Amino acid sequence: MRIGIDRERCQGAGMCVLSAPEVFDQDPGDGRVVLLTAGVPAGQRPAARLAADVCPAGALTLLDDSDAGDMDRAGAAAREHEQAGAPTGDGSAPA
Ligand code: SF4
Repeated sequence: MRIGIDRERCQGAGMCVLSAPEVFDQDPGDGRVVLLTAGVPAGQRPAARLAADVCPAGALTLLDDSDAGDMDRAGAAAREHEQAGAPTGDGSAPA
């Protein structure tokens, strides 16, 4: 997951920082949102979603997995590995 920010819409309310302080900060000069991370770590995604939901200006956009970073690709590789090692069955009915 990535997040798009629209600093022109941002009103500096700071709800995003309260919701997800590891993802967002506010510019000390104008109070507008600053993104702290390009990709949102899995553990921060619920907080980032909450931040987008509570932003009164609609200045935050969640961009899901089509733009995902390395973290999601690593997760997909792990799932493929698990599937490759899992029994596939021979299609016969159980005895
Ligand atoms: S909650 Fe929205 S309006 Fe407030 S600082 Fe964050 S992005 Fe800006």
